Amino acid sequence: MFADEMDILSLSRWRCTCRANYQHASSSLQRTFTNRLQAFVPYPHQLIDIVEQHGGIFGGEVALSFLLRHDPYRPSTLEMYTSHYQFDNLRAAILNDPQIRARIDKWALRPKTQLYALSRLVSSSLEIRMTNGRTVYVHQSYNCSPSAPLTRAPCTALSNFVTGYGFGCSHPTLTLARRALLADRTLQFPESARDRRVLDRLLAHGFELAVSPATWPEYRDRRSVDVEMKDADDDTRDVAVAADNAYDAPRNRDDNTVGEDNDMTPHLETTQSPEECLRYTWLQCPSQGRFFGDGGSFVGYFDPLDRGEERCMKANVAPYGSMAVWRVPSTFDCDAGCGDVDEVLETGVTSVPVLFFKDPFGELKGLECDRMIASARRRALSF
Ligand SMILES: [Zn+2]
Repeated sequence: MFADEMDILSLSRWRCTCRANYQHASSSLQRTFTNRLQAFVPYPHQLIDIVEQHGGIFGGEVALSFLLRHDPYRPSTLEMYTSHYQFDNLRAAILNDPQIRARIDKWALRPKTQLYALSRLVSSSLEIRMTNGRTVYVHQSYNCSPSAPLTRAPCTALSNFVTGYGFGCSHPTLTLARRALLADRTLQFPESARDRRVLDRLLAHGFELAVSPATWPEYRDRRSVDVEMKDADDDTRDVAVAADNAYDAPRNRDDNTVGEDNDMTPHLETTQSPEECLRYTWLQCPSQGRFFGDGGSFVGYFDPLDRGEERCMKANVAPYGSMAVWRVPSTFDCDAGCGDVDEVLETGVTSVPVLFFKDPFGELKGLECDRMIASARRRALSF
């Protein structure tokens, strides 16, 4: 099936062309997910059902591998995340499942220190060694949001989730171009050797890691253009268009079209420092407040025509329900003040749990931040 060979952005666009392609592409997405899980458990759909029943999500390297699709990246660990109060039930359900239990070599419950829990938002982890040599982790979130630990991932390439309904990628512009911003403040805390191994594997698979987006030349080149765009069209910008621009960036990384001097591109003398902010086009300011569903993220559903989004809303499944708004815990110092001006995150706050839902009576009329979140979610890149 050639759909399996398409990258996730091409596939998502291709399946919009006709009903037949929609079926092929949707099947391909689901096949990719179950194939990834099948390396760990014999009946992936069973595991997906168990995780879904307990409000969990899949993350870590398997979620990244799902997004990269045809890349030969095949992790040896499977990571699931659940809220603080659902952890015990999910842990028992997995350990007691007959199909999984028969393939467990050994398991251990590993409570985390308070320092680790505060820095990574993980209270404890269930570690299961499978008889096939693979390892399965079930992580207990420090709070009510199963996705909270994703906001403290070692780098942006690992802040992704997959559920039985769909998936989310926080930094697709970077991740799909095999780039990642390091959460170096998180890594300053005592971290496990596993974090280092994960980062080493990313490097081995061609990822570039950096603290500042200005490390990559096309983001430096775009600075003056982006500031001009922001001045001309500040409050009326369309986040969906911004997301499209963001997706253009990695595709253009090997040519000179970005920042090129032509009639369509306003020219300004570059006066900004290399740390200049690119938040207006979602080009990855680490200090910018983010959430799954904003204009810079990539959220999709396996079967949107079968009310995929509606099912997530009703069941409080990501990207709805208990989620998080966060900044990358980075030493990057934003000159434009993203660390101080976010609508949700106060200065110095890097992650807060939030409840995302769709107002049944229409657009939210409350706080400005509520309106912005509702608006951004409606326009979020989905298919
Ligand atoms: Zn910024």
